[in-house]
Formats: sequence, structure tokens, C-alpha cells
Amino acid sequence: MQEENGVEKIKCLIIGSGPAGYTAAIYASRANLNPVVYTGLQMGGQLTTTTEVENFPGYPEGVTGPVLMEDMRRQAERFGTDIRFGIITKVDFSVRPFRLTVDEEKQVLADAVIIATGATARYLGLPSEEHFKGLGVSACATCDGFFYKGKDVAVVGGGDTACEEATYLAGLCRKVYLVVRKNYLRASKAMQERVFHTPNIEVLFEHNTKELYGTDMGLEGARLLYRMGTQEEKEVDIRIDGFFLAIGHTPNTAVFKEYIATDEQGYILTEGKSTKTNVAGVFAAGDVMDPVYRQGITSAGSGCRAAIDVEHYLAEL
Ligand code: NDP
Repeated sequence: MQEENGVEKIKCLIIGSGPAGYTAAIYASRANLNPVVYTGLQMGGQLTTTTEVENFPGYPEGVTGPVLMEDMRRQAERFGTDIRFGIITKVDFSVRPFRLTVDEEKQVLADAVIIATGATARYLGLPSEEHFKGLGVSACATCDGFFYKGKDVAVVGGGDTACEEATYLAGLCRKVYLVVRKNYLRASKAMQERVFHTPNIEVLFEHNTKELYGTDMGLEGARLLYRMGTQEEKEVDIRIDGFFLAIGHTPNTAVFKEYIATDEQGYILTEGKSTKTNVAGVFAAGDVMDPVYRQGITSAGSGCRAAIDVEHYLAEL
């Protein structure tokens, strides 16, 4: 172990253990950068909360999210990645090497850092929504839409994601309700046009979800509240098998905000096609810098790019 003034010094420190973090680790370890991964609270990231993953290349029969992430972890370890359970609670990117605090106590130093902390899908916060997670409630139509082929589903949200997911689901499902809390869509005009021209999408403006119901086998429907004018409210019942949240994601960047430039939503800004942030030596990969694609495979791809960027950076140091 390399030390500087009694503090461990890491050549390439990767924060996060989703597809971006693990892929960066596979590439960095094969390039002899001796990477250390701090996994974060949810080891394996968002994919560990999904069931079947059918769109990750290399798994013709599909794979479950937890198994896919376990495979990636083992692949990174096979090349010597040091994977540690821990959360980075503080950083100082104003000094070289960078100084980071793990779990509010341990200090480590790093020559290069890859931020791959992901994003967290927003949920409405209803107890029934929590109850049906994985039993009809999902925050990713691209991941789970296929399981609702020929069925009726609802998408909540009025932004580009909601419209895109509703249109995607309309190609698979019998009927898609788009549940929008305001009386307009926030999505781009082009996206709105697609929604309005898709015959099996019904937009329910000014509707809020009150609760979801079903059995142990899965979701059966949703009770919505329709606001009529300013005062009056009417309860509306829709029978659905799937309920998709598309009300935005929160990138996990709070701890880096003092140093790392983000857009107004908190996504890390990167330079051109690279994974470079505004701080030389700090790179970002995966959902934490990608508000648009947000797929396991695109995250893995950017993790690979980040490791290659680190390799070039360290070679120049
Ligand atoms: P947005 O923040 O744009 O939209 C979130 C939507 O969810 C809004 O309609 C919002 O309603 C609604 N919402 C938020 N909280 C609640 C709640 N508690 N109950 C009900 N509805 C709620 O997020 P997106 O994920 O859609 O988009 C994020 C960014 O990514 C945007 O910049 C978007 O343009 C971009 N994007 C681009 C795509 C593309 O170009 N192909 C595809 C996907 C995303 P309200 O309007 O009332 O606030």
C-alpha cells in the first residue's frame, strides 16, 4: 500500500459500483492502475433493484440485475480491483493528490478519481407504491416494459422521459395512460406531438395518484384524483398492470458540488466526448453525467471511457 504522511494513497479511485464504476474498474485494473472502488450504499447500483435484464449484450437468455452486477464485480476483482464497502462523505479536490473522506472518518488520497455515483429515480412516496415495487411499479420502461406486452399500464410525469416512455410502451402495450399533474406537458413540442398522435395513449391532465392497489401477485389498478377547477376533486379508477414513474432522477452529486460543475439539475458536466470534469484528474461516468440515455450498457461504455481518460491523464502527470 502506498502512503503519503501516513495516509493511504490510491492511484485511481472509483466512486460507485454500478455498470460505470465496475467497467471503469475492469479497464483500470487491466491497465495496471491498481484501482480501488468504494461501492456506496447500494452495492451494484440501480440494476440490483430490477429483476430481469434482457437488453444487456452478451446475455442471450437474459440475466437478473443482481447477477449481472455480481458478474461485473467478479470480473473487476479477477484483474485485481480492490472493492471496498464504503461511502465517500467528503472530498477536497483543491489539493493534489485529492483528499477524500470515507464514512466520515477514514482519509484517503487519490491521484485520479472517477465519479460513478449514478442517479436515483424519483418516486411519489406512496406506501402502496413501495409495496408494489417489482410487482408492477417500475421507474424504467426500457428495462421492464416488455413484461407488460398486451396489457394496460400508466406512466406518471409530463416531461420528455414520460412522453418517451409512454410512446415506447404504446408500441408494446394495449393502452397507456399518461398521468400528468398539471394541465400541460413540460416535454418538447416534438415529443408532445408523438404522444398526441399515438392512438393508444390517453393523457390524463390534472390527475394525481392517490394510491395503487392489487394482490400479492401484482398490481391491479390505481386510484387517481382529478382536480376539477380549483376546489373540486373527483376520484378516478384505472385498471392497470404496470405503473411507470417518469418524474425525474436525482443525480448523486451533492458531495462534489463545491468543486465539480453540474447543470441546473445536478448532472456533472463533462468536456466534449471525454469524461473530463472541470477539475483536471476528476472524471465522471454513467448516470451521474447522463440525463438522457441512462442504460446499463451506456453507463458501462462511459465507465470504459473514463478509465482510458484516467490512463492518459496519469501518463501525462
Ligand atoms: P423533467 O424534470 O423534465 O420532468 C419531470 C416531470 O415529472 C414533470 O412533468 C413534472 O411535473 C413531473 N413530476 C415531478 N414530480 C412529480 C410528482 N410528485 N407527481 C407527479 N408528477 C411529477 O424530467 P425528465 O426525466 O422528463 O427529463 C430530464 C431531462 O432529460 C430534461 O432536460 C429532458 O429534456 C431530458 N430528456 C431528453 C430526452 C430526449 O431529448 N430524447 C429524453 C429524456 C429526457 P411538472 O411539469 O408539474 O413539474
